[in-house]
Amino acid sequence: MPVSGLGPYDPNNIFARILRGEIPCKKVYEDQWALAFHDINPVSPVHVLVIPKGAYVAFADFSATASAEEIAGFIRAVGTVARDLGLEAPGYRLLANMGEDSGQEVPHLHFHLFGGRKMGPMLTRPLT
Ligand code: 5GP
Repeated sequence: MPVSGLGPYDPNNIFARILRGEIPCKKVYEDQWALAFHDINPVSPVHVLVIPKGAYVAFADFSATASAEEIAGFIRAVGTVARDLGLEAPGYRLLANMGEDSGQEVPHLHFHLFGGRKMGPMLTRPLT
């Protein structure tokens, strides 16, 4: 079910539980600001999720309220993960769903990092 609107942060969402180590993940990177791990249901040969360590529901509250340090740290981590995975030469796609229309399912900000194949068009037609 997509998340609807930007409710308060749910500390028991699945990614919060992964951050606390309560649920395992296939970790690819971690630093002070971010954790990156393989998506459980990949749609490309490389499908990694990068999440900030702070409690942010989505890009909306992160971009509006995170500190400059948190934003810089998180964005740099995304770039580091892509580089470390060898995706800079072939290229990759970054995607962040935000809210109901996007289909966001997990209410903790995450960037999807897709690589390892031609990505094709950004959105499928017809637009509905
Ligand atoms: P969203 O639709 O919110 O942008 O993407 C959520 C993503 O989280 C999906 O691609 C889904 O496969 C992934 N996901 C959901 N639950 C888990 C989990 O427990 N572990 C991992 N590694 N990925 C998950």
